[in-house]
Amino acid sequence: MSKIRLAGIVNDSITDGPGIRLTVFVQGCPRSCPGCHNPQTQPLCGGYEEDDAVVLEKIKSNPLLDGVTFSGGEPMIQAKNLLWLAGEIKKLGLNLFCYTGYIFEELKNVEGANDLLNYIDVLVDGPFVKEKRDYRLKFKGSTNQRIIDVPKTIKQNKVVLIEDEKWN
Ligand code: SF4
Repeated sequence: MSKIRLAGIVNDSITDGPGIRLTVFVQGCPRSCPGCHNPQTQPLCGGYEEDDAVVLEKIKSNPLLDGVTFSGGEPMIQAKNLLWLAGEIKKLGLNLFCYTGYIFEELKNVEGANDLLNYIDVLVDGPFVKEKRDYRLKFKGSTNQRIIDVPKTIKQNKVVLIEDEKWN
């Protein structure tokens, strides 16, 4: 078990993926995307530390959840600290989505990211690009970002996108 540096937790979210979700906003992001929707989550030393077991209890206490979303901040820079929680989320039968400012192909160079990807069902990748913002997008901010089916991507060893309209 680990401590996770958090910006906050939102229960019953309907904006971070299809269905009712608990969203874990991690604290800290090395990017400074102009127009970042959560600039308060950028400082690496901001937010607060929380036990992953406490986060898990919050998840378990909500019977309405379809799944959990890791957002931020940049979840992948805390990949190692999120690993145990991700495994427990999957044991509960919940789906797990994750946002990252990295593109998928960069993650092989991020410590712990490959291990975390083994538990993630859907990854929204790439930084927010203000010039490519489109308010019609349901669960991403700009058109450069991709909605990736992670299990299929790992199995086929190439990025497989989700075209389902509930996502797009
Ligand atoms: S990657 Fe996301 S959290 Fe980080 S600066 Fe860009 S928009 Fe903000």
